[in-house]
Amino acid sequence: MMFDETYDLVVVGTGAAGFATALGAVDEGLSVLLLESAATWGGNSAMSGGGMWLPDNPVMRRDRVADSREEALSYLEATVGQAGHATSAARHEAFVDGVADFVATSERHGMRLVRAPDYADYYPERPGGKIGRGLEHAPFDVKRIGAWWSSCQAPAALPVKTDDVWLLGRAWSTPTGFARGTRLVARTAGSLAKRQRLAGIGAGLMASFLDVVVNRHGATLWLGSPLQDLVVEDARVVGVRTTRHGQDVSIGARRGVMLAGGGFDANVDWRQKHHGIDGSPSGAASNLGGPIEIATANGAATELMDDAWWGASVAPSSVSGPAFLVGERSFPFSMIVDADGHRFANESESYVDLGHHMLEHDKDGAYWLIADRRHAWRYLRSYAMDPRAVKAMKAEGVMVKADSVRDLADRIDIDPAVLTATVERFNGFARCGVDGDFGRGNSAYDRYYSDPLVRPNPNLGPIEKGPFTAVRLVIGDLGTKGGVLTDAESRVLREDLSVIDGLYAAGNCSASMMGRTYPGPGSTIGPAVVFGLRAARQMAVAPARTAATA
Ligand SMILES: Cc1cc2nc3c(=O)[nH]c(=O)nc-3n(C[C@H](O)[C@H](O)[C@H](O)COP(=O)(O)OP(=O)(O)OC[C@H]3O[C@@H](n4cnc5c(N)ncnc54)[C@H](O)[C@@H]3O)c2cc1C
Repeated sequence: MMFDETYDLVVVGTGAAGFATALGAVDEGLSVLLLESAATWGGNSAMSGGGMWLPDNPVMRRDRVADSREEALSYLEATVGQAGHATSAARHEAFVDGVADFVATSERHGMRLVRAPDYADYYPERPGGKIGRGLEHAPFDVKRIGAWWSSCQAPAALPVKTDDVWLLGRAWSTPTGFARGTRLVARTAGSLAKRQRLAGIGAGLMASFLDVVVNRHGATLWLGSPLQDLVVEDARVVGVRTTRHGQDVSIGARRGVMLAGGGFDANVDWRQKHHGIDGSPSGAASNLGGPIEIATANGAATELMDDAWWGASVAPSSVSGPAFLVGERSFPFSMIVDADGHRFANESESYVDLGHHMLEHDKDGAYWLIADRRHAWRYLRSYAMDPRAVKAMKAEGVMVKADSVRDLADRIDIDPAVLTATVERFNGFARCGVDGDFGRGNSAYDRYYSDPLVRPNPNLGPIEKGPFTAVRLVIGDLGTKGGVLTDAESRVLREDLSVIDGLYAAGNCSASMMGRTYPGPGSTIGPAVVFGLRAARQMAVAPARTAATA
């Protein structure tokens, strides 16, 4: 077939998985086109915390933090186990073995990766568990990408790092939190004095990827150009069809096509079909699952479609979307109850576990974060920072206040006797320091988001000083994790596990190697970048197909 244009690689989607593939392509000296359906680039990755869980990585070695291939694999075995082909031992090994290549390649191209030294694995007590395996990009001056910054999906350029987030959460209540706040102010002032605009977390990571791949290596990126279909010849994917400026365009891909078009977070029909709920995603509205649908129409198998990167989110209001909760639910003087006023889980556990517990407990019911006034005064609550949003939340019954627990219960339709009994039982646990029902505060992961000045248990504090607040929660997510089945080299597989030649997938478009869990900070972007880069390496050695361009 004659194509309008031909590249070595065509990458569908401009999140972390897509850019890591493109990084591999430019590193191999291959030409690459990135297609993005939205008017903005970066996807969920640009909106994210930008953390990458990369066990046994070279930055740890430089920092003299012990880790090993064996410990990383035992930890994956102890946490993920086997949840289908996506979680095979071969894929776990490919991930761990691919970490060093990703770190070395990105650093060779000038990206600056640093550790989040204090962030624990989410099950640090299991075999091979550790603290400090997560990497992130150092704050990056987004002025370096010029006009591209204005079309980035990132909500803002904030010079924060992962470990800032938890310490800033208690900036007013602990000396370490206050010191971290001061450092952040100094960093921001320093960058402004140098006329920089620093962005950390997901925004910084994605801006740096774009700087390397597009600005410095001349890769092509088309916005507003959704994948429409794959072009298949002799059972091999040889190109794609897209639309650009309203015109149909066919693109040849000499070495392969990477599907990195994210999950189906915002596709309500699919969410109902696979999850039984509409979903309250915190990610990009453009993640609709189109590439997964196109891949399955071309014979690809899928796995884990019924799962997502779950968590608890504050319910949306007319001026704010669902606000995914990480630290707030874990700080003392607060607990989560169901529609009947009962606790049902450890509020400080990993967000994916909490989301699963909410789904299992009552997928349609209301949930409430109940807190006393110290929770509001001492800790930073991400959902309460915008006064317009708070006003709307109060007006719309998402945030409810009362002077007594009984009145609060009345106002949120819970039996006052039940909520009072739950609070009294919880306060007893807070006083003795042991959560006899759900073990909150037992794990080092729980204690990452805690207040060390609250004793005897830094995750527990009695709910006894009014006014009391109830904030309505929903089952939220950071994206979906089911998608196209891939092998250790990111090649897309059919049901019979045979390879679809020329077709690759990574990130949320593919079924996750993390199965039904979330082993450590950055468990979605870590594998997305490693499998993205692995795909590019594989395409570089796969026999090239000669495609004709009109
Ligand atoms: C607030 C928030 C914080 C998070 N923090 C972290 C974190 O710190 N660490 C971590 O590991 N994970 C985090 N996550 C999850 C993580 O962001 C995602 O799982 C990850 O970014 C997915 O990367 P991806 O490359 O697969 O997809 P995305 O980054 O979502 O990119 C997919 C892109 O494909 C595009 N696309 C969709 N359909 C098409 C089509 N038909 N044609 C062309 N393009 C298409 C989309 O528009 C999108 O731009 C967070 C998520 C959120 C929302």
